[in-house]
Amino acid sequence: MKLLTKVLAVVLFSISLQAAAQNSDAVKSDSYRMKTFIDVLMKKMTLDEKLGQLNLPGAGDIVTGQASNSDIGKKIREGKVGGLFNIKSVAKIKAVQKVAVEESRLKIPMIFGMDVIHGYQTTFPIPLGMSCIWDMNLVEKATRIAATEASADGICWTFSPMVDISRDPRWGRISEGNGEDAYLGSRIAAAMVKGYQGDDLSKNNTIMSCVKHYAMYGAAEAGRDYNTTDMSRVRMYNEYLPPYKAAVDAGVGSVMASFNEVDGIPATANKFLMTDVLRNQWGFKGFVVTDYTGINEMEAHGIGDLQQVSALALKAGVDMDMVGEGFLTTLKKSLEEKKVTQQQIDMACRLVLEAKYKLGLFEDPYKYCNEQRAATEIFTPANRKVAREIAGESFVLLKNKGGLLPLKKNTTIALIGPLADAKENMPGTWSVATDFSTPISVLQGLKNAVGNQGKVLYAKGSNLDADSMIEERGTMFGKSLHRDSRPKEVILKEALDIASQADVVVAAVGESSEMSGESASRSDIGIPKLQQELLEALVKTGKPVVLVLFAGRPLTLTWENEHVPAILDVWFSGTEAGDAIADALFGDVNPSGKLSTTFPQNIGQVPLYYNHKNTGRPLPEGQWFQKFRSNYLDVSNDPLYPFGYGLSYTSFSYSGITLSSNTIKGNQSITATVTVTNTGNKAGKEVVQLYTRDLVGSITRPVKELKGFQKITLAAGESKKVTFTISNADLKFYNSDLKYVAEPGDFKLFIGGNSRDVKEADFKYQL
Ligand code: BGC
Repeated sequence: MKLLTKVLAVVLFSISLQAAAQNSDAVKSDSYRMKTFIDVLMKKMTLDEKLGQLNLPGAGDIVTGQASNSDIGKKIREGKVGGLFNIKSVAKIKAVQKVAVEESRLKIPMIFGMDVIHGYQTTFPIPLGMSCIWDMNLVEKATRIAATEASADGICWTFSPMVDISRDPRWGRISEGNGEDAYLGSRIAAAMVKGYQGDDLSKNNTIMSCVKHYAMYGAAEAGRDYNTTDMSRVRMYNEYLPPYKAAVDAGVGSVMASFNEVDGIPATANKFLMTDVLRNQWGFKGFVVTDYTGINEMEAHGIGDLQQVSALALKAGVDMDMVGEGFLTTLKKSLEEKKVTQQQIDMACRLVLEAKYKLGLFEDPYKYCNEQRAATEIFTPANRKVAREIAGESFVLLKNKGGLLPLKKNTTIALIGPLADAKENMPGTWSVATDFSTPISVLQGLKNAVGNQGKVLYAKGSNLDADSMIEERGTMFGKSLHRDSRPKEVILKEALDIASQADVVVAAVGESSEMSGESASRSDIGIPKLQQELLEALVKTGKPVVLVLFAGRPLTLTWENEHVPAILDVWFSGTEAGDAIADALFGDVNPSGKLSTTFPQNIGQVPLYYNHKNTGRPLPEGQWFQKFRSNYLDVSNDPLYPFGYGLSYTSFSYSGITLSSNTIKGNQSITATVTVTNTGNKAGKEVVQLYTRDLVGSITRPVKELKGFQKITLAAGESKKVTFTISNADLKFYNSDLKYVAEPGDFKLFIGGNSRDVKEADFKYQL
């Protein structure tokens, strides 16, 4: 029997070796076929046609039927357009693709992109909310659904994931990323690329992903969008670049250049970023697209006129020009003047054509244009069910004094606040494919859940902001909160009246959808004052108040944390928001989200992040102020809520850590185990987090670094052992020569349910 098993194993092994060899042959022959195909095609192309492939105009305005006689139609026919973006529906995409493949000389198909950022028509939580889920299967599942829906509607390329690390909640685009941590951000980046691209990009339900905004866009000075970024190489490599690299390692097909400058050179013309790091160090093989008019904006940055900056971008390693047409209109002249080479143009053109080839567009330019799929695969009940589940997992329970939550359904609830009956605001920023008639408001969600068991009373309570201009800026793109023109006292009184009739008040307040996202930076990151006054008045009634917080960034909630008994951060959680919020409020779902960004006590602490350095004069733990220590006179160094934090309707306890050995030798690994117990009386999920600290390094090292996490489910009273494996790969960092090394010495290891409350152990690493 044993012998038979052995023989079988040998046979299977040799079969798998053969298969692997055949596989790699297949890959080789695939890329050979692609090369040959593109060689032949490019031989036929004129210079103008090559430059046309590098051109990516926006196309929001095209309507079906107009495609062939619009200005864009003319350009497509002349071979001057490589792709279009933000054009929606199979009919429209088919119409313009038809012009490309039937009326242009070489019949090269176009690529169709869109900002499919957190779902397509079925909309998931904004990325910052998604990043609080800490479950990579769910992240991948959401992006898989987004890809399926988008590809059913003609789209084959998404400008996602956005992986810009940000430690500055003033920056509105913190809502579009995965928070402050490079490790968590890298895991999410990889899961998203996999979800979009699947295992085979040529299938009709996978789409090409575009990681953005490369690079360091999230470190804009003062949190002001598009502002300058400047940092040391060591910080870049260790703290900001890893998520982009993780996307590249996961096989992302394209990269978008960011708007900001790095080292005094805008990213779009930054050869260090686009060629040295991206292609030479990371081996990226896809194409680079600029951000919207990124080339033209370099004129304002002050590094040359359009001809000059277009040449700089090409030479740096940028392949496709979004919207600005600098490539289309100036590269020919630059070639004649020998400011760029034919080879540089050819390379960019080849990379764009390769993307189309990999997507299968040369075989079937209409492969994503299937009306049948569009009619049956978008916004399906099954997809919405997943979106509701995922929304529930993204909520972070920040406070729950006396177990006020979950609520009973057979009570009278006063639902109050400008975000309570605001379905257009539920999906959040960058929800370009959402049908705004579909999202579930909180009011609708609560009514759906309560049915006739209890009562839901509603009043607006206040406008979003006392200043109508600010309200307008925060409610653009069809997301109006329908400003109430009555005096604020009248609006408030109506709310207090219904509060007096209720057992509990649910206050749906915070930011509106467009108070975060692009060009939505804030210098004060509290709940707008008018709504704070509403909240204060509600608390004053003496009724228990639950704060359902809408936010696209960490907010300063010091007053709220002190005075409001329960706070549930629901971000902007997509089309199913209202039902998902009701699930959490009534305990049908037990909140399990954990913060991916630190919540500061006040704006002056920003940037505040858990993986900071110790400094030479650290404040002793538990202290507020000591003279000549690194601290403030007027606020402690503590966050309001630390990274990794989030409560549950149950509670968890952690045992001490057991190490398999307290020394990692060379390439060997050790394990660290804790027992986590659900000490409450409800089933719940807990994100068990592993951090390390390198006590002595050749460069200073952070006081804690996330190195692993596991999300587990525990029944009431249940205990589970959670084991992490740690090897020298987890201890590596970029030293001052930018070498990726693990240095021998003493380390600390921490395990806990957030970055602050942890168990500790010590270990050594020996070569
Ligand atoms: C944004 C990108 C986006 C692009 C296309 C730009 O303004 O910065 O994130 O992908 O527009 O819509």
